[in-house]
Amino acid sequence: MHAIQHGALYQNTIETLETAGSLVNLNPNVLEMLKYPRRALMVSIPVRMDNDRVQVFDGFRVQHNQTLGPFKGGIRFHPHVDLSEVAALSALMTFKNSLLNLPLGGAKGGVRVDPTTLSKTELEALTRRFTSELSPFIGPDKDIPAPDVGTDSQTMAWMLDTFSMESGFSQTGVVTGKPIEIGGSRGRDSATGLGVVYIMEKALQTQKKDISDATIAIQGFGKVGMHAAIEAYALGAKIVAVSDVKGGIFSENGINIAELVNHVKENRFVDGFQNTETITNDELLELKCDVLSPCALDGVITKDNCSKIQAPIIVEGANGPTTMAADAYLRDKNYIVVPDILANGGGVVVSYFEWVQDIVWLFWSETEVRRKLQEIMYRSFDTVWEFAKEHDKDMRTSAMAVSLQRLETAMKLRGQAW
Ligand code: NAD
Repeated sequence: MHAIQHGALYQNTIETLETAGSLVNLNPNVLEMLKYPRRALMVSIPVRMDNDRVQVFDGFRVQHNQTLGPFKGGIRFHPHVDLSEVAALSALMTFKNSLLNLPLGGAKGGVRVDPTTLSKTELEALTRRFTSELSPFIGPDKDIPAPDVGTDSQTMAWMLDTFSMESGFSQTGVVTGKPIEIGGSRGRDSATGLGVVYIMEKALQTQKKDISDATIAIQGFGKVGMHAAIEAYALGAKIVAVSDVKGGIFSENGINIAELVNHVKENRFVDGFQNTETITNDELLELKCDVLSPCALDGVITKDNCSKIQAPIIVEGANGPTTMAADAYLRDKNYIVVPDILANGGGVVVSYFEWVQDIVWLFWSETEVRRKLQEIMYRSFDTVWEFAKEHDKDMRTSAMAVSLQRLETAMKLRGQAW
């Protein structure tokens, strides 16, 4: 086994790749190439901390495949980041971008750090030094980072500034997910959550249900989970539970998400919100509701809790929330599991829109962004759903199969496979 492939998420990714590959008779050379990332960069990031001591952090950028266009993928700041996890996430970006029919390849980056323990000055120094180490490998035509867990539009602004300083001119297209004032797109902040909700709507429609009559539980109240909750609530859905790293809250009658957002602004956590009961993150996953959407971390639906899940539809807002064993169980029991590469694709779709707007220096209204996003999410869902029905397969295998077929065609056209 290649050193980079040892992690659980990488192993899961290879297994899905092989299952879907055999379903569509994928060219064995294409399959072999897609199992490995094209490049992996490891850097040491020395940071002068506020106490004047240097602390060195590990940073990674893995570029998986660029057949369809420049590498693209987020940057994660989290204490558990490791090379294999970043590599697996970079591969998922290749498959996601192909599935969504975007002219982009796949990459991912990360720094092993708990950003909540750093001051703003330390975070800025860390981000700038990391960007400087990456700068020969990134750029608007090469590799375009974006926010992920533990990073945000401010992180992207520092990356943009550092890269531009080194280039000698302003290069806003080097990152996406940046503030609107410096070339960001309207609608980027809510894009992943909104995309999750478009997918919830479509999945519910297959069961002849409207989202306005649905009950929904969402794990995670960050960039993805909070916006998914806001958008679903705006469509009249009853959000019965949400959670964050500290735990969850539940209300059978539905949580007032507009007021909860204000509560979180003041108190940081969902905990203690009026008219709700406290529940654990594990209890949230096992609630009786129409849709469950894990929007926090990977590996939360496991062989130990999968048999207790009562929601018939699971929409994966997070990357890799379902382990292989749990996935097999849910597949056998005919749950509809909409996989991450489809369900959370809204973020990269609007990142793509942002990159396009930066190239032409012409910016779209939020209405236009949302309309274009909806079109891509609905169409991608329909393509995967039809493939699943035609081949009598689950959504995860089907999404990967559609993605692989597109990659195979492109790789053959470019002469990368024969
Ligand atoms: P975030 O850091 O903004 O939010 C993460 C949320 O999860 C927070 O509410 C946090 O409190 C909660 N959380 C952290 N640890 C937890 C734990 N152990 N148990 C329960 N909750 C926990 O991150 P995000 O950008 O919302 O990303 C969430 C997931 O979505 C990740 O898997 C990420 O890769 C994926 N994703 C994000 C985007 C994006 O545009 N941000 C796009 C696609 C996929």
